[in-house]
Amino acid sequence: MKKLFIKTYGCQMNVYDSARMAELLAPIGYGAADTTSDADLIILNTCHIREKAAEKIYSELGRLKQLKEDTGAMIAVAGCVAQAEGDEIIARAPQVDIVVGPQSYHRLPELIARISRAGGHALDTNFPMLEKFDALPKGDSPSGAAAFLTAQEGCDKFCTFCVVPYTRGSEYSRSVLQIEDEARRLVARGARELTLLGQNVNAYRGLGPDGETWSLARLLYRLAEISGLARLRYTTSHPRDMSDELIAAHGDLSQLMPNLHLPVQSGSDGVLAAMNRGHTVADYRRIVDRVRRARPDIALSSDFIVGFPGETDQDFAQTMALVRDVGFSQSYSFKYSKRPGTPAAAARKQVAEPVKDARLQELQALLLAQRNEFDQSCAGRVMDVLFERPGRKKGQAIGRTPYLQSVHAENAAPFIGDIHRVRIDAVFPNSLKVSLVAAGEKVLAH
Ligand code: SAM
Ligand code: SF4
Repeated sequence: MKKLFIKTYGCQMNVYDSARMAELLAPIGYGAADTTSDADLIILNTCHIREKAAEKIYSELGRLKQLKEDTGAMIAVAGCVAQAEGDEIIARAPQVDIVVGPQSYHRLPELIARISRAGGHALDTNFPMLEKFDALPKGDSPSGAAAFLTAQEGCDKFCTFCVVPYTRGSEYSRSVLQIEDEARRLVARGARELTLLGQNVNAYRGLGPDGETWSLARLLYRLAEISGLARLRYTTSHPRDMSDELIAAHGDLSQLMPNLHLPVQSGSDGVLAAMNRGHTVADYRRIVDRVRRARPDIALSSDFIVGFPGETDQDFAQTMALVRDVGFSQSYSFKYSKRPGTPAAAARKQVAEPVKDARLQELQALLLAQRNEFDQSCAGRVMDVLFERPGRKKGQAIGRTPYLQSVHAENAAPFIGDIHRVRIDAVFPNSLKVSLVAAGEKVLAH
């Protein structure tokens, strides 16, 4: 058997894609390698969203060059850096055999076969989305208790800071039946929770079994009927696509977890307009109010960018005010950094680095305080936890609450793969200590 090592960077969509690549290559004889040094094929599944992403991949490729000379491993670069850089990768790093974009990795077996036969390099950065999902294996290996499922890919929104529309292409939604089929297979293989993925998952508009175009809400109602599927989540959403129907689903579907990631990026209307976000701060506040009315125990998380070109002290103060008013259970925050080819990268009024640093520190301190406050508010509560894997200690199990908090419980190993009621005994910075409670005890928060 040949050995495959995949290094995954970035978002959950890449985690999903890496798992599909492993499944795709299993039938042609590739099993998992523990390290790069015992691999016959090394795939870097890259992400382009962070600063200097391409340079970091080139440094990694520099390290792999010697390894390739020693072991003869084949090297492939996949994902968004592959899409953005294309044949530049082979020009700068000739040790790379294959460059394959996020929409064409289903062709990996063919590209590997071609190179093994004829040598040379292979490049495929096309966007044959339909073909990709049809070509991916249906999958029959065991699934984890919490699994990802790509429902939608790409983005047509063109926020002025973002590379996604260029690297992942325009919006595409898989059909309802294709998603339902994958969901049923995952549940049959052990999944109790599914997270529907998409760069703009709530912009989902897929072909329904009735020939109509279905929304994400309709898809969620349909998936909620799958027996054995206890939990549903979806990420990432855009405020513009938070429809009435989707908000109502949060009130109707007990399977839909009380947790919503809804990036706002900034609390200033001027900055939101310059970012081309297509919504105002008031729109965002209204959505939050409506979501909370539909599902009063919902916790919100968000993404923020500080130091976007032209952001003033006053704009930043408005972001802080929005955070204070809304209250987030968990968030991601970043300093704005230029992405080549995006409109904001060419803006004249870039914010100085020390200003960005100071703003990020201030924002992160507030977000951390809110997160701690939320976690502390859970102390003593009874919740349902999905246990996903063993902990470091014997008998220990690690799982997640409905709010995605990581928990650990002693003597819970037999419950891995299932949901069990727990009491939150202690709150630590990155996890909660819980103990199992007898079935039938009243659950206070979902
Ligand atoms: N589709 C999601 C949305 O509309 O909010 C976000 C997807 S993006 C992959 C994830 C996050 O990366 C963004 O929400 C943003 O906060 C951050 N990000 C994207 N481009 C950035 C840039 N040029 N500088 C800093 N952060 C950036
Ligand atoms: Fe990027 Fe999200 Fe904006 Fe699309 S909606 S351009 S993925 S930030």
